[in-house]
Amino acid sequence: MKVFLSSDMEGTAGVVDWEQCVGDGPEAAAGRRLLLAEVNAAIEGAVAGGATEIVVNDSHATMRNLPASEIAGGASYISGSHKPLYMMQGLDGSFGAVLFVSYHGSVGAPAGLSHTYNPRAVVEARINGQVTGEAGINALVAAHYGVPVVLVTGDSCACGETAALIPGVHSAVVKEHVSRLAAHSLHPSRACALIRETAQRAVAGAAQAESSPFAAPVSLELSVRTTDIAEAATWVRGVERAGPRELRISGDDLLAVYRSFCAAILLTRTVAEAM
Ligand SMILES: [Zn+2]
Repeated sequence: MKVFLSSDMEGTAGVVDWEQCVGDGPEAAAGRRLLLAEVNAAIEGAVAGGATEIVVNDSHATMRNLPASEIAGGASYISGSHKPLYMMQGLDGSFGAVLFVSYHGSVGAPAGLSHTYNPRAVVEARINGQVTGEAGINALVAAHYGVPVVLVTGDSCACGETAALIPGVHSAVVKEHVSRLAAHSLHPSRACALIRETAQRAVAGAAQAESSPFAAPVSLELSVRTTDIAEAATWVRGVERAGPRELRISGDDLLAVYRSFCAAILLTRTVAEAM
C-alpha cells in the first residue's frame, strides 16, 4: 500500500513560536530536527501497519524542511516552492492512505501558532458550514482521489478540529495549548512513540476507512480580513463574493474547489500584506 504523508511543522511537540519553525536561525534548525523525528515516527508506524511505499510532501513555509537522506522508510520526498497542489502535491488515486503530520489549529483556535493557510488573509474557513483548518481543506483533495485521511498529529486543537470533520480519523495529540504561543508538550521521545503506534493502527485500518467525509456538493466558505482581499480573490475562477469580506467556492468537483482556493491564496498574498 502506498501512503501519502503531508508534513507541516507548527504541530510538533516542543515547537511553540515562529522562531522555531521559520527562517534559518538555530531555533528553526532545532525545530526541524524535532519535526524530522515525528515524520520518521509516522513513517515507521505506517510501515509496521502495512505501507510498502511512502511519499512525503513537505508542506511548511519554504517546503524544504527535512534532510532527504535522513527520512525513514526509503520515502521519496516532494519539496520546494510553487507546487500546484501545494500541501497535497503528489497525491493521486494510487494511494491507500493519507497522513497529516505536525498539523496546527485553524486561525480561530486558541492554540499552537494557529492559522489557516495565510494568517494575513483568512479569518475563518468553513466546509459545508463547519469551521475547519488546513486538514479539512486538504482533505478535499484526498476525498477527490478517494483516499482516506487516517491520521492527524499535532496539538489538541488541530486534532479535535480534524476529528470533527473526518469521523474515524486517528489522532496523536503531542501537545496541549496554553495560548497561541505557549503549549505543554510531551517529551519528544514520547511524542514519537505515540505517533508511531497511532500511525500503525491508522494504516492497518485504512482499507476499512471512509474515503470521503464530504457530502457533495461541497461549499468552502472563507471570511477574509479586508474587502480588497475579497475583491482580488474573485478574480480567480470559481470564487464567488458572498458578502463584503465573505467568499464562497462550491461544486461537486472537490479538486476544482481546492485549486480555486489555492489560486485565491496565492493571488491575494500581496494584497493581504497591505494594511
Ligand atoms: Zn500550516
